[in-house]
Formats: sequence, C-alpha cells, structure tokens
Amino acid sequence: MSASVCVFCGQIKQGAFTPCGACARAPISEIDLAYSFALSTHCQTPETIREVAAEMQRGQPRPDLPPEQEEYVRQIARQWMESPLYQAVADHDKAKDTGDRYSISSSGIVEGSFTARDSSVQIARHAKNPLAVTRQMAFHALKSYGAFTSSEWEILTKAALNQSWVEKRGVSARYSHVYTHPENREAIFHETAIADVSTAAIVGQ
Ligand SMILES: [Zn+2]
Repeated sequence: MSASVCVFCGQIKQGAFTPCGACARAPISEIDLAYSFALSTHCQTPETIREVAAEMQRGQPRPDLPPEQEEYVRQIARQWMESPLYQAVADHDKAKDTGDRYSISSSGIVEGSFTARDSSVQIARHAKNPLAVTRQMAFHALKSYGAFTSSEWEILTKAALNQSWVEKRGVSARYSHVYTHPENREAIFHETAIADVSTAAIVGQ
C-alpha cells in the first residue's frame, strides 16, 4: 500500500494520486501530481515521508527536487494524466456532486468509475478483479437509469443499515476522501455498500 504526503496540507494519505482525506483536495495539475508521486513511498522511505509531513504541518513549504529528478516525476505525472481515470478524477474534482461513482481498492487505488455525465463505465487495466469492478460499476449505472423502484431501494437500504454493510465492507475507509459532500454522503455510502454486497454475492468476493 503506497502512502504519500498531501502536497496541499502535509497530511499523510493513502496513494499518490488520490484525494486527501484531511483537506479533500486531489492533485490535478502536472506539478502537484509530480510531487505527490515524489513524496510517496514509490520514491521515499516511510521515515522520509513522515519527516516531510511533519515539517509541512509545521508550516514549511513542500520541498523541491533537483531539476532532473523533477523532470522524471513530471513524466510519471504526464503519463497518469493521459489515463481515462485521471480524467474521471479531474472531472469529479471540478464538480464533486456529479453522480459519478468510483471503485476503489483497499489500498486506495481507483480501479473503475461510472461517469454520470455520459453514462460511461471505465475499468482500469490494473484492477485486481476486473469482473467484480465491472459488476459494481454496472450496478451504479443501473441505479442511475432507475432500474430499482423506490420500494426495492428502500428494502436494500434497510438491509444495509440493519446489517452494517457500510462498516463491514470498509466503505468509509475507502471512500470518505472521495465523497465529501455532507448532504448526500450517507446515501452514496449506502449505495456503494449495496453495490459491493450485491457484487460479492455474484462473483463470490
Ligand atoms: Zn491534504
């Protein structure tokens, strides 16, 4: 599991390119992505990460790299910026309440997305279980198309509440940094947990 220093607030977060759990900001620009990668366990020891985080939290600016090292991490950032998932996260960052849904592994990596704007489902090549991610994202697509009646959805939401699906499936840990809107957060967490449980029932996860 990779950890990195948030380039905005200096807190340690899971994953280099993921939004920060503390300040909810995601690295979007090339330079922010580059330093998010540079200040992650991909490039640094966990001790260095902790030291840099502590310094930034004391008000120090983010450290700079020598030019050739910065160019290397900028290259990594540019590669990531060409991926559809980067676009999904960038779009999501622009409008946090778009109805877009994500599949995020326990290590904080985005493995798939459902984009409400064009009703597209994207599955990452690095997804560990592409079939499970596809089913999960298809579930969100079905929900957005109105495939469930309100009474059906009520039954599912009650089951999620009574059986603590959000807690049992680790939904808060995986998604609290992604879905930050307080008004609809609970509903999204339940939808995600329901999608997760339904998918697990089909593919046996
Ligand atoms: Zn932050």
